[in-house]
Amino acid sequence: MPSAPGGPRLLLRRLREIMAEPVGAQDRLDKIVVLIAANMVAEVCSVYVLRGDGVLELFATEGLNREAVHQTTMRSGEGLVGLIASTAEPLSLSDAQSHPSFSYKPETGEEIYHAFLGVPLLRAGNTLGVVVVQNRTYRVYTDEEMEALQVTAMVLAEMVATGELQALAPLETGSALRRPLHQRGVSLADGVGLGHVVLHEPRVVVKNLIAENIEAELKRLDESIGDVRAWIDDLLDHGDVAHHGEHREVLETFRMFAHDQGWLRRMREAVISGLTAEAAVERVQSDNRARMMRQTDPYLRERLHDLDDLANRLLNRLVGRDMAAERGSLPDNAIIVARSMGPAALLDYDRSRLRGLVLEEGGPTSHIAIVARALGIPAVGEVANATALTETGDAIIVDGATGDVQIRPTPEVEASYAEKARLRARRQEQYRKLRDVPSVTKDGRAVTLQLNAGLLVDLPHLEETGAEGIGLFRTELQFMIAERMPTAGEQQNLYASVFAETGDQPVTFRTLDIGGDKILPYMQSIEEENPALGWRAIRIGLDRPGLLRMQLRALLKAAAGRPLKIMFPMVATCDEFIRAKEIVEREKAHLDRHGHPLPSDLKLGAMLEVPSLLFQIEEICAAADFISVGSNDLMQFLFAIDRENRRVADRFDPLSAPMLRALKMVVDAADGACCQATVCGEIGGRPLEAMALIGLGFRSLSMSPASIGPVKAMLLKTDAAAVGALIREELQQAGGGDSLRPKLARFAKTHGIPV
Ligand code: PEP
Ligand code: MG
Repeated sequence: MPSAPGGPRLLLRRLREIMAEPVGAQDRLDKIVVLIAANMVAEVCSVYVLRGDGVLELFATEGLNREAVHQTTMRSGEGLVGLIASTAEPLSLSDAQSHPSFSYKPETGEEIYHAFLGVPLLRAGNTLGVVVVQNRTYRVYTDEEMEALQVTAMVLAEMVATGELQALAPLETGSALRRPLHQRGVSLADGVGLGHVVLHEPRVVVKNLIAENIEAELKRLDESIGDVRAWIDDLLDHGDVAHHGEHREVLETFRMFAHDQGWLRRMREAVISGLTAEAAVERVQSDNRARMMRQTDPYLRERLHDLDDLANRLLNRLVGRDMAAERGSLPDNAIIVARSMGPAALLDYDRSRLRGLVLEEGGPTSHIAIVARALGIPAVGEVANATALTETGDAIIVDGATGDVQIRPTPEVEASYAEKARLRARRQEQYRKLRDVPSVTKDGRAVTLQLNAGLLVDLPHLEETGAEGIGLFRTELQFMIAERMPTAGEQQNLYASVFAETGDQPVTFRTLDIGGDKILPYMQSIEEENPALGWRAIRIGLDRPGLLRMQLRALLKAAAGRPLKIMFPMVATCDEFIRAKEIVEREKAHLDRHGHPLPSDLKLGAMLEVPSLLFQIEEICAAADFISVGSNDLMQFLFAIDRENRRVADRFDPLSAPMLRALKMVVDAADGACCQATVCGEIGGRPLEAMALIGLGFRSLSMSPASIGPVKAMLLKTDAAAVGALIREELQQAGGGDSLRPKLARFAKTHGIPV
């Protein structure tokens, strides 16, 4: 059986010679296919390039009919070549013609060949084409031959990427690398952003592929692995994990991979086959990426992603790149594309140049989404493979309202989005005009509209929107973006700055809502089966009161002489609220004894997020000064739907009868007890939902800054009593889980209410 006589090493040496020859692109490619065929004792070697229009075109062949070059084409997914391009995986067959995907192209004359080996041309995760060898016999290609062809494919991919081969393609089709792509993710933060891609952790594109000196390359590889291992050990040993944006768990995985003998062996073998150290890392990583795309188990996929991150760090070290310096020099109109990102990393970027954010992960209630909304940056999450589909500098459009992402848009698409952005700006201008208009319904009910905030960067929105204070200050954000636990002094400083910025406007601080998905990277995390139902929020506060006491003291001190409102998250029973209240009273007495000025007025509230509290609604309204409905969590627990799980998160409608009945119970009981009731979950910021809340009797809503204008525009045109009557009537009739959305939407339409 014939096999590669020279192996990858000889092949690479010859390839280097051909690459150095001063010949045209077609000649070079023709020589390469002859070389590969000879080296692998194959009768056929063909190269297909993926064009910008998604079509694979035969660019060169040894063995097939040469007339077919630049004539034979196939779609990605069509035939064996198309299959390889669409799966980004090699394919080895002893009898190609019996494969179900085989499609016969008569002009090529390939009917006499049986054995088939094809591998994708991959570069930084993108498929740019396919290289194929074929034999007449029914033979099985060896692993060494597969490796030789994969190594060659890297060189060919580089030829495609550098544009050398593009000159051979019709101009209008261009390269797959530059193909316009439309992706759909989930909306994280509203707004339209047009700009250019900046990869958050840019993937290194390896250009120097063929080793001059294999011993020297092995040494470079070993040294870099040593450096990366030392870096991980150092971070883990010194506990300064959050500073580098890493979570301990990820670093532990990094450490495991950095010592994984299989991974190291494969990279060393790739160097021995003739690649540079960086090309060897990339070569092994291509296989890993292909596995990643196939993997459906979320845990394993996550681990493969971690390995991808680690390989990228290794590449950065090998090519001597300084990622931190690159982050500092952001171009204008930057749209950050990342796999995932913590809130601190986003805040590191120069905000004045940020136009958008695209993430492969991150649901709408994730903290990066909250920070993006606070900064007013259009953001889309859950865009599969976004980092592999884009390159730094690519034109890109983010539509945060719909979740659409346009990568390398055509001029027509770009023009239509530019128009959309202009329209939005005009609408924003109209909302700005409403800024000083009192927020009173058509039938004269005043409704207080407040902001949700959590960072100092949120506070300028008060002035811009004309909101009447802050209805939810998420204090955990300071903890989540910090490198270590904020000290009592730092907490007090932040709260004092909030008071200084808000002037006479009221602020409701929520005590630390940590645990569940809100993990502090510097705190030992506890493995829990169901973190959303686990040890979190007020539960931690009551079990370990040290942290809660420190925070309460910081709040009381910062509020000296001013009114202060504090509320507790995730209260499940009235008793929990009373115990929390006692802790506040004790802290207050302590400060008083030590001569500290106290707040001029202190109001304590409970968040209603856990359905059990609905069944103690009278008691909690009697005990608390106010109730704030956290509808994000209330929906989660009422319907038993994980708010972070896209499969189920939108399964039930907040405007359905069960939720509206729950909300009505709250507002009715609060009215009866003269206890104020507000809503601070996301539903308060959506005009149609807010219309229903006002109809139910809520007179205070807290929402993200961008929602103030639309909600105010809605309520100015709303007759609260009429909406209330409609809801009451419908709730009496609605059986099961009927949604009132269609009825409410119709009501809004017929009454000219903008929702
Ligand atoms: C809520 O649950 O509705 C809420 C406002 O709190 P968070 O989104 O921070 O959990
Ligand atoms: Mg909540």
